[in-house]
Amino acid sequence: MAKTKVISVANQKGGVGKSTSVYCIGAGLALDGKKVLLIDVDPQGDLTKMLGLRKPHDLPRALGDVMSDVVSGKEIAEHTEIMHHHEGFDFVPGNRALSAVETGLVNVMSRETVLRQYVDSVKSDYDYVLLDCRPSLGMLVINALAASDYVLIPVQADYLAAEDMTELVGTVQQIKRQINPKLKIGGVFLTMANETNFRRDTVRAVKENFGKHLPVLQTVIPATVRLAEVSTADKSIFKHEPKGQAAAAYGGLVKEVLAIGEKQRGRSAQCR
Ligand code: ADP
Ligand code: MG
Repeated sequence: MAKTKVISVANQKGGVGKSTSVYCIGAGLALDGKKVLLIDVDPQGDLTKMLGLRKPHDLPRALGDVMSDVVSGKEIAEHTEIMHHHEGFDFVPGNRALSAVETGLVNVMSRETVLRQYVDSVKSDYDYVLLDCRPSLGMLVINALAASDYVLIPVQADYLAAEDMTELVGTVQQIKRQINPKLKIGGVFLTMANETNFRRDTVRAVKENFGKHLPVLQTVIPATVRLAEVSTADKSIFKHEPKGQAAAAYGGLVKEVLAIGEKQRGRSAQCR
């Protein structure tokens, strides 16, 4: 098997489509025959809910418990936290136990690499591991970035806040310098584009603003009711409306994700 790619989906702003994108990219990669693990690194457990576990806080074992075990040096003999989804991928649920872990990390040695220790112990079974980040730049997000080869940044089409991007990219670069030299920005992509906020030249405008420092992906994810429904449909967009424009858009994004680190070597090298 080729080397596993670990990819965080991050943006400190909430509601930009991170969790929906992790689900749909993961389902799309699985449709393409890839072995995929999704990890919910958000104490809110939104991804976990989308994947059908509606009460993430009642789960007997989730990512927070696993990270606590890593911190206390307990060996994880059986991976009961890894669940299988009917669309052909595995996932690790997340819940509010992660908040306690995040707070407790302050006093832990190697606090930035607790999640990486876990991811490194399970990733050899997978082609892709996708990490869904909480909307912050706190210690859980730092842990996700420290564990990743690439970060994907969804940006809402009508909210291209330059300061937010500068802050996020600054964090990525700091983690690259100090903790994880292999981390690269896999790309920025636009989400929730509609007729009022999306113009044909939006991608070009994003490229002009950020393109010098960041690879901007071609895919633009539309704002659609069908995608909003994915959070409660127990189906990714590829099952919910396989022939619609949203499935076509996420299909395009999956192709771009598959190309990250392959054809795009030159492009992602720009953001070193
Ligand atoms: P984040 O993880 O960044 O907070 P979510 O993926 O949870 O974002 O999306 C926020 C809300 O917007 C959710 O209710 C979700 O169902 C909805 N949503 C996500 N993507 C789209 C889209 N492209 N069009 C319309 N609604 C969307
Ligand atoms: Mg989310």
